[in-house]
Amino acid sequence: MSWSILGHDWVITLLKNHIRSGNTRHAYLFSGIPGIGKRTLAIQFSQALNCLEPPEVGEFCGKCRNCRRIANLQHPDFIIGQSEEPGAILKIEPVREIQKTLSLSPYEAPWRIALLLRFDEANANAQNALLKTLEEPADQVKLLLTASSDSAVLPTIASRCEIIRMRPSDIVTTSRLLQKKLSLTEDDALRLAHLSAGRIGSAIQFNDMPETVEAILRHAQEGLEMFASNTRQRFQYAVTYRDFRKRGELRALLLEWQALFRDLMLLKADPDARNSLTYIDLVDEMRSLSQKAEEHDFPALLQNTRRALDYLDANVSPQLVLENLLLTMPRIR
Ligand SMILES: [Zn+2]
Repeated sequence: MSWSILGHDWVITLLKNHIRSGNTRHAYLFSGIPGIGKRTLAIQFSQALNCLEPPEVGEFCGKCRNCRRIANLQHPDFIIGQSEEPGAILKIEPVREIQKTLSLSPYEAPWRIALLLRFDEANANAQNALLKTLEEPADQVKLLLTASSDSAVLPTIASRCEIIRMRPSDIVTTSRLLQKKLSLTEDDALRLAHLSAGRIGSAIQFNDMPETVEAILRHAQEGLEMFASNTRQRFQYAVTYRDFRKRGELRALLLEWQALFRDLMLLKADPDARNSLTYIDLVDEMRSLSQKAEEHDFPALLQNTRRALDYLDANVSPQLVLENLLLTMPRIR
C-alpha cells in the first residue's frame, strides 16, 4: 500500500520528487474545497516522509510501525491541530501547544510533523503565532496546513509554504475513477460524481455512507419544497434549528442549499444543463421550478445564503438565521 489518492496524480508526483531529490520544503499548504482529499494527501505525505521500510524512495510501505501509527493518527511525532468542529474558530492555544512540541526533536521518526487542519479557521492571533514557527524553522520539523483556499490564510503564511492547490476533477473523469476504484455501475458512479462535485474523497465517503446521501437528498428536496411553502410553514421549518447546538447542522444544510440554488440558476440559464449539476437525481423538479422563477431570483438567493453563513459564523442563533433566509426566498408554485 502506497500513495493512493485518485485524481491528483500530479500532486503525488511533485511530493515524491521532493522526497527523492531531498528537497522537501519546511512547510506545505494544501488548499482546495472540503472533501477534495487534502487531509488524506497530507497523511500519506507524512507516511512517505517517515516510513521505515519504503519500497523505494518517495514511497511508503503502509505496514511499518510509523506508517500504521501515522495512519491511525497515533504517532508521537505526528501532531494534529484543528478547531473543535468544521466552521468553528481555531484559537491560539492549540497552535501554541503544537509549537512547544515542535521545538523538541523527534522522538523516533526522522521528521516531527504537525498537521494543522482547516487553518483558514485560525483567527489572526493563531495565524500570527504560527508565523514565528514558519520564520524560524527548526530542523527535522515539517508543517502541513490545509485550507479551503490559499487566499483564506494570511499572505505572510501562504508565502512561506509550498502551496499545493487541489482542484476537483470534471464529472466524467470522477465517474470513471469511481467505476474503477469502487466497481460501481456507470449510473451509480455518475450520480456520486455529481453529488460530490468532482471531489473524489467525498464521493468515496458517500459510497460508504448511503444514509448520508439520503440525508443530503432529503435536505435538497426540503429546499425545493420551501419555495412553494407559505410564511407559516417556513417559520415552522426553521424551528427545527431552535437549539443553538444545531449550528453545525444548519451550516451543512446551507452549504447543501448553496449547491441547490446554483443548480437552479444553471437550469434557469440553460434547461438542458446537466454536466455541472450537483443534484442530478432532482433534475426534473429543479428544471420545472427554475422555469417559473425570475432571472434574478437565484443569484439573489445565493447571496443571501452566503450572508446567512456569515451570520452563523458570527454566532447568531441558527433558527433566526434560517428564518431570515427563508423570508428572502421567492414564493414559486
Ligand atoms: Zn512504512
